[in-house]
Amino acid sequence: MTTVAVVEDDTHILAAVTRGLTGRGHVVLGATSGLRALGEIVDQRPDVVVLDLGLPDIDGLELLRMLRAVTSVPVIVATARDDEDAIIRTLDAGADEYVVKPYSANQLDARIRAVLRRVREDDTEEPMQVGGLTMDARSRVASIDGHPMDLSRKEFDLLWHLATRHGEVVSKRELLAAVWRQPYGGPEKTIDVHLSWLRTKLGESAKTPRYLRSVRGVGVMLVDPHAA
Ligand code: CA
Repeated sequence: MTTVAVVEDDTHILAAVTRGLTGRGHVVLGATSGLRALGEIVDQRPDVVVLDLGLPDIDGLELLRMLRAVTSVPVIVATARDDEDAIIRTLDAGADEYVVKPYSANQLDARIRAVLRRVREDDTEEPMQVGGLTMDARSRVASIDGHPMDLSRKEFDLLWHLATRHGEVVSKRELLAAVWRQPYGGPEKTIDVHLSWLRTKLGESAKTPRYLRSVRGVGVMLVDPHAA
């Protein structure tokens, strides 16, 4: 049984989504304001959150950042805006998936199952070590030279994917498909932004790379700098 928190100020949409998800066997926690939702999500610990970006009391992206500061619960953002910039900002702020309004209960249910499948896949992976970098997908803890790294969900997923393929050049297209679930291409800028954050957290830069080597026009590779 999956508990889904649905944050949506339009009571008609909330009622329809609740009906659709309940009919598919989910338990739904509804909230019509952002701040009430934040408290409810912290208290009730749902398995997944569906977040409307257009809320009356707080900007949806701001709420997403607040959520990310306190929980790693998967978040599916529901947005009326289907332009690329809005989607990039949403993914950068820590969303796992998005649906563009209006969406059907079937489509939302499929997204929910997809994000939960990803979380469960992570739970079965063995810890990994590349040089001074260690990563554990189960606890979602990464450390560099023994120091814990403070990574967002996407930063962790990106670094984990590169670590599983360490020593190989991974294309941005593959990263978009594997980490951002965009198999048909999409905002490559968002990868560059996440790579630059990762470099800072790994204590390196594009000019003086250690773990993350960009291969122009091809992709990026994670290497053990001590083995080179
Ligand atoms: Ca709204």
